Amino acid sequence: MSSIRVRFAPSPTGTLHVGGARTALFNWLYARAQKGIFVLRIEDTDQERSTEESHQQILRAMDGLGLDWDEGPGKGGGFGPYIQSERLDIYREYTQRLLDEGLAYKDYSTPDEDDHRRKKLEEKGTLSAEDWPYRDLEPAEHEKFEAEGRVATIRVKMPDEGVVRWTDIVHGDMEFQYAVLEDWIAVKSDGFPTYNFACVVDDGLMEISHVLRGDDHISNTPRQIHLFKALGFRVPKFGHMPMILGPDKKRLSKRHGAASVEEFRDDRWLSSALVNYLALLGWSPGNDQEFFSVEQIIKKFSLKRLNNTAAVFDYEKARHLNGEHMKTLDLKEKIDTAWSILTEAGVVSDEGEKARLGQLLELLGNRFSHFDRTVAHLSAYYTDEYPVDPEVAAGIDDAARARLGALADSYAALSAFDAGSAEQVLRDLAAKTGEKAGLFIHPARFAISGSGSGPSLFDAMELLGQERVVRRLRDPRMG
Ligand code: GLU
Repeated sequence: MSSIRVRFAPSPTGTLHVGGARTALFNWLYARAQKGIFVLRIEDTDQERSTEESHQQILRAMDGLGLDWDEGPGKGGGFGPYIQSERLDIYREYTQRLLDEGLAYKDYSTPDEDDHRRKKLEEKGTLSAEDWPYRDLEPAEHEKFEAEGRVATIRVKMPDEGVVRWTDIVHGDMEFQYAVLEDWIAVKSDGFPTYNFACVVDDGLMEISHVLRGDDHISNTPRQIHLFKALGFRVPKFGHMPMILGPDKKRLSKRHGAASVEEFRDDRWLSSALVNYLALLGWSPGNDQEFFSVEQIIKKFSLKRLNNTAAVFDYEKARHLNGEHMKTLDLKEKIDTAWSILTEAGVVSDEGEKARLGQLLELLGNRFSHFDRTVAHLSAYYTDEYPVDPEVAAGIDDAARARLGALADSYAALSAFDAGSAEQVLRDLAAKTGEKAGLFIHPARFAISGSGSGPSLFDAMELLGQERVVRRLRDPRMG
């Protein structure tokens, strides 16, 4: 077992966004590649915004992506508890240490004083010693404020001068002047630790060796490094991954399409494809290979190949990868998933119909490249109430209707109807009228299925049967 210990530390204040999922994935990949330990820690010290529902959602999303943790909620481990709200005693102990060792102080600022300081910082860009009147109080002064009933926050004392440096795994050498790093709150007036404080105590006690997270945390890192050192913890290595942007270069959000793991799942993406695509958003394999199974990524994954520029989420590319991953499913997996989607949509109910689904999926082959097309592609074979593609419908003009009518008459007269005879009749009819077969084939595909694409037309006709084909050719569902 290596000494690599990484963690994913989500705050349960919403669903698992693609950015968070990528952070989780990269930590997990690194742990798996290095035979290290992947810790899941729930950072729920923001009492107002944290919810149990979000906590559970995050666990489900991680499960769905196959990101199993070695230590954490539901798993235990030697460094628990792994939920911050269950670690309050530990933070209290460290708060006392901060105060005893003069690393932090009680700040009795009133809301007005806080406001004043905030405004001054905004206007002037820096603060001076007189803005921190509580930094070096005498014991008697403490007693006075306590007697007044003032509630203190606890602030970490930052050095006035010098620099803090680290070599970031993604961004290289980083440097911050202590002069621009103000004293910061470690314990809020409600007694709860802030993120920066709890995070350092936990990463320190949990012996985290590498912190890989989004680069929105870069400004926290110098504060955290100061505290790691002050408390005598080993400072982990840091890597800050660039944000994931939408095609318009703004932070990826729901506006762009699915943006949380849950939405991708609801949109029927394969988790193997999502994992593959997320891995490429921030890591490059060193050549132009794009399709990877998760095992292949683990084998190739290295922190040396993390990108330092923002990644743009390209839905088309992701979709293409989804199609590639669909090819790796066996027929039974495809049948089971498609069947559950059709059942959920109320399209099928009779288990006896499942065999036909296998035939259909075989006919569709690789053209069936995303489960989000299940209802659109397959319901026409089970119900007359199938969805219709309005764009294709708009192209069905009178001439097309006349051809469909003639084709329906010829099919109605057949005594044996199968793919072979259906094709023969259509081609004979086209030859007789001197028109291209395509002029019959395209509208016919629409008429029998509501769609402009799908399995081979004649095989589809055989599956549908003579009666339904004739009826739909005569009276195509238009919308
Ligand atoms: N709870 C923090 C967040 O969700 C964790 C950041 C970190 O990884 O240190 O942003």
